[in-house]
Amino acid sequence: MFDIGQELVYATQMDAAVLHTDPAPAGCAPAEGWRSLQRRMQVVCGQLNMVHAELVELAAEALRTRDWQGQGITSLGHWLTWQAGVSATRANEVVRLAKAKVTHPETMAVLADGAISIDQAAIAVKAPAYLDRHFGELAPVATVAQLKVLVRAATPAPYPQPDTPEPTESLSGWFDDNGRYHLHGELDPDRGRIVDAALKEARDSLFQAGQEDVTWADALVEVVNRSIDTVTDERAERFRINWFIDPTDSVPARWIDGIAVPDWLRQWLTCDGTVSPVFTAHGRPVNVGTTQHAVPERTRRQVLYRDKKCRVPGCAQARWLQVHHVIHREHGGGHDLRDLIAICGTHHRMHHRDRLGITGNAEDPDGLTFTDEHGRVIDPATRPTKPTGPPTSPPQPYRHPLGERLDRSAIYFPDPPYDDAA
Ligand SMILES: [Zn+2]
Ligand SMILES: [Zn+2]
Repeated sequence: MFDIGQELVYATQMDAAVLHTDPAPAGCAPAEGWRSLQRRMQVVCGQLNMVHAELVELAAEALRTRDWQGQGITSLGHWLTWQAGVSATRANEVVRLAKAKVTHPETMAVLADGAISIDQAAIAVKAPAYLDRHFGELAPVATVAQLKVLVRAATPAPYPQPDTPEPTESLSGWFDDNGRYHLHGELDPDRGRIVDAALKEARDSLFQAGQEDVTWADALVEVVNRSIDTVTDERAERFRINWFIDPTDSVPARWIDGIAVPDWLRQWLTCDGTVSPVFTAHGRPVNVGTTQHAVPERTRRQVLYRDKKCRVPGCAQARWLQVHHVIHREHGGGHDLRDLIAICGTHHRMHHRDRLGITGNAEDPDGLTFTDEHGRVIDPATRPTKPTGPPTSPPQPYRHPLGERLDRSAIYFPDPPYDDAA
């Protein structure tokens, strides 16, 4: 059915241990020490793989029961970064593996037996589902890098369409009736990759800065903000985004084109932005006052110095913090330090969209209560518990990948199963 190259097939028939029993070169540790280290490594790796499989099982349970939801959490991956203390990359891998329990049962069974690492499994389940059995057999003998090559080889390239005309580039953006922005575009492959790389870089830098649930929309706004930051003040002023508050209007705030600013956004922007009063006479502007921060600069610095990072439990964001009024300005909230907290943009947005409740006294380190959209109190981050016994040992110690060269020219996979409906 499949053949992955002479060398690798040959190697799979060998006892993996035999590959590495050459005596150690002179001057190195004696062979017995090396073997002992290898044996202990195999045991620990096998246990680690099984424990990772249990972590995936818990994630799969959370996926089924949706018990991760609420708590101001945006996704199962985000919940894992918080509950398991793992990186966003690892969390997304665990989510992918949890889903693969349905699509790639054979590969997942190999992980559950401790025979492959979580990294090997995370790549193997990227293979088409109909090749699950093959990848369940290949994964234990292939390194992560080799599995990537194999998965690429197993994923069929799109069938070329000879008669389609060369597509042209396009980019369009528009505001709908609710003032929401839509963006649609298609670029040539090289320029598309530049845009993609810039978005990835921005997303990564936001993540490195502590924003764990960073989205592609966040990344795009980050790229745009950086672009605006590089232009001169005079030019930036010309392109500043203005909106207008008119207490006498039935719609309290509008963008420059007259579209209403939603209530949540108005409350958010008045929390921590800059305001320039415009004085009018008979409906016409006659004077513009000094631009001021919504929170006095001195108070703002005091709040940021006191809080150092976003006050929401589980959030580590310490850059680009905003200041939030625990009692909203529109409800009479003032600039008292007990009513002001440092908060990251994502959580600030969530709060003003009614997905995160914040009450209490900000001056008391434990004085704030955060609630999710269902009103449940969000606990401070959980801590790993100390194991009470040794981890479960796999049926066989972990065997490392063979480490043989992979002959790409001999990689062959069967075609996808024939689909009558197609
Ligand atoms: Zn706010
Ligand atoms: Zn935050």
